[in-house]
Amino acid sequence: MSITIFQARKIITMNPSRPLATHVAVRDGRILGTGALEELACWGAYRLETRLADKVLMPGLVEGHSHLMEGVFWRFIYCGWFDRRDPDGRVWPGAKSLQEVVERLQQAQSALADPARPLTGWGFDPIYFDNRRCVREDLDRVSATRPVGMIHASGHIINCNSAALAAVGWLRTGIDHPGVPLGADGMPTGELKGPEAMMLVSELLGLDRGTLAGDQAGLRMFSRLCVRAGVTTATDLASPLPDEALPILQAGTAADDFPTRIVPLLRLTGAPEKTVQRAAALRAQSSDRLRLGRVKIVADGSIQGFSARLRWPGYVNGAPNGLWYLAPQQLQQALALALQQGVQVHVHTNGDEATDAVLDGMDQALQAHPRPDHRFTLQHCQLADAAQFRRMKALGLCVNLFANHHYYWGDEHYRLTVGPERATRMNACATALASGVPFAIHSDAPITPLGPLFTAWCAVHRLTASGRVLGEHERIGVAEALRAITLGAAYTLKLDGEVGSIECGKRADFCVLDDDPLAVPSMQLRDLPVWGVVQDGRIFAASELPTG
Ligand SMILES: [Zn+2]
Repeated sequence: MSITIFQARKIITMNPSRPLATHVAVRDGRILGTGALEELACWGAYRLETRLADKVLMPGLVEGHSHLMEGVFWRFIYCGWFDRRDPDGRVWPGAKSLQEVVERLQQAQSALADPARPLTGWGFDPIYFDNRRCVREDLDRVSATRPVGMIHASGHIINCNSAALAAVGWLRTGIDHPGVPLGADGMPTGELKGPEAMMLVSELLGLDRGTLAGDQAGLRMFSRLCVRAGVTTATDLASPLPDEALPILQAGTAADDFPTRIVPLLRLTGAPEKTVQRAAALRAQSSDRLRLGRVKIVADGSIQGFSARLRWPGYVNGAPNGLWYLAPQQLQQALALALQQGVQVHVHTNGDEATDAVLDGMDQALQAHPRPDHRFTLQHCQLADAAQFRRMKALGLCVNLFANHHYYWGDEHYRLTVGPERATRMNACATALASGVPFAIHSDAPITPLGPLFTAWCAVHRLTASGRVLGEHERIGVAEALRAITLGAAYTLKLDGEVGSIECGKRADFCVLDDDPLAVPSMQLRDLPVWGVVQDGRIFAASELPTG
């Protein structure tokens, strides 16, 4: 029952009745109170922790949309265009041409002893190479005999070499699948599009979702990224949660030195009844650092991949409308079932037609099964307009907007996908605020890097990679952005009574910063140094994390 009082330069509590403090008292991993040292002495004998005395504390950051596979990916070769920090804190420079990508893979291949072991890359984003398609001959230059492949940044496409195609029996003519484009010779080009076409090669490369969902080493790598980003609660937003993954997640998160609260959402596959029932049953297997019992549904694809479902007038370049990953009728049935059973659902929608399908589906489902405070949440919901936000408010929906998208793909949205007007309204944080829709912002790591302070910077400035301000009227203030990455995200997970602010009764989860996010120029928010975290009252310094 020992009490620790943490001393800090400043504590930003996000508690409106006591927004600032210099000390916080902690017992059993929970907060007794904040204030001045003399005030906190009322709780009895304590140990004063001065290690953070020159730091700024804020509530542990909550990543409301990420995937554990970001941790697994770091055992593969990073092939992305942007610089990216790995779990050990090392920055991998972006590969700025297809030639650089090939050279990086060549280097990795020459270091591999076992000639049969596949070589896997990730984060590839040819949209930055003038969309020059990568073909198998490019990757044959890495190896003619070893299977080599890389998954795109979007996660929706794989490129592989001839040896990989041969290993799955596809280095031949006569393949007839919309996700397997053919070259002039009638053989696959090595590009595989969509989950079905990718499946066999995914397994070969160690990229199948089952592997990515439940892996002890990957879990620990992911948690190290969280500490470096100041995150103490993170979602795994679309897990298949196979039975064999559960004990791994339970044991991994229960370890004394595990620094993150993980919230996996069970991805709906097949019959909605089974998924909803399984999610409800999983709730009982939860622990403090593993929160089970929620469902994720994916309604459509991605905007930059032209697979999102758009309303009229569709894509500006004339691309055909995208894909329903789940038909609107089934979507409505799944929502009704989940409402009835009291299982919370988060739905991925990118296009505004997909968002309409959820709004219509919820309208119907709520008439059959009214449930106050359901907090069903639209994830991404990038193209929603003001009228759709008003409907979200009326239906009690929350939204988690993909603020990072502007930086990474905003220029392409302006030019290629939805055109100038709709590009400026994408991820409309200011409209969400004005409409009173509870909202969060996210990275969708590994799609973009895990880092809520960077995400907040994106929502505040809405700058694209080329430096254009995209949607100045949808910018929000620093305080609102910081709320979105703490209490805002916690609210969408129904965890706002436990985390997201620093106040009596809540978990002792803090993000430890070298500087004050409310005082530095807002342009510096993206690079604000994170010292580490306190999670359940335990200190984790980024500089002291195990490596390798
Ligand atoms: Zn996602």
